[in-house]
Amino acid sequence: MQLFTIFGNPVSHSKSPLMHNLSFKGLGYNGCYTRYRLEDGNALKSKFLELGIQGANITVPHKEHAFNACDELDEFAQKVGAVNTIVNKNGKLYGYNTDAPGFLKAISEFKNIKTVLFLGAGGTAQSTSIVLRDAGYEVTLLNRSEKRLQKYIDQGFQTYTFDTFINDKAYDLVVNMTSAGLEDENLPSPIEILKDILPNTLACVDVIYGKETAFLKLAKAYNKPTKDGSDMLLYQGVIAFEYFTEGKFTFEEIKVQMQKAFIL
Ligand code: NDP
Repeated sequence: MQLFTIFGNPVSHSKSPLMHNLSFKGLGYNGCYTRYRLEDGNALKSKFLELGIQGANITVPHKEHAFNACDELDEFAQKVGAVNTIVNKNGKLYGYNTDAPGFLKAISEFKNIKTVLFLGAGGTAQSTSIVLRDAGYEVTLLNRSEKRLQKYIDQGFQTYTFDTFINDKAYDLVVNMTSAGLEDENLPSPIEILKDILPNTLACVDVIYGKETAFLKLAKAYNKPTKDGSDMLLYQGVIAFEYFTEGKFTFEEIKVQMQKAFIL
């Protein structure tokens, strides 16, 4: 039996063990997926090898440590500097980023989207902004504070803080990429900015999953189509499972099994 895990801290809330174990069972694959609370990200590689695992997902706050732990990186993971999936191939650790393609797939149901406004500029925004730009979207970032914006400016993105924001164009899609709303009822930006933007928007997405955030409630008040982060979570898991099982199953076969985790 092959062993898999998710490394993170905290990790007790993670849906990934359920998602992957349901898929192993449903597809008749001899694998078992557990969770591992890792305090020191620098110990990731030694722990991975010591546990004798075949593959792992990596969540907050260790995605950069995971990047550094890999012997080989796929092109996209290399570009974004963050790894959330590692596969052991003959003792060598191969790193991938499936969060960003998962997000791209999750928003594909919204048609006629060209301009995208990200509220937030943290780790998740980093990889997803690049995947979206590579796919032809025009991404702008609006963040509470200035500090995180420099790397986006260096990469050629248009960025604003709440203080510098100028609403001079329509954003087809507005995405809450912050943790505002995760454990509170906060909006990701001042309500005045949202009231200015939302009337001209085609759809709104929140990366937070499993609840209707204050942001999504406001978007619905403007009659905008919305979705939370569940599909992003599902699709990053499906893509990780494809890597874990080295392409033995199709995306649809895995998705059918994995999505059962969202109704349990
Ligand atoms: P980071 O800690 O890297 O970044 C947090 C971001 O949120 C920063 O831009 C920060 O702004 C902003 N922020 C935090 N609190 C507030 C607030 N009260 N008001 C305005 N801005 C705020 O987080 P991640 O990028 O790792 O995660 C972001 C979100 O994405 C989380 O909610 C996480 O749960 C979700 N997520 C969902 C996934 C899925 O599969 N659905 C996968 C991964 C993440 P500042 O720079 O000013 O501090």
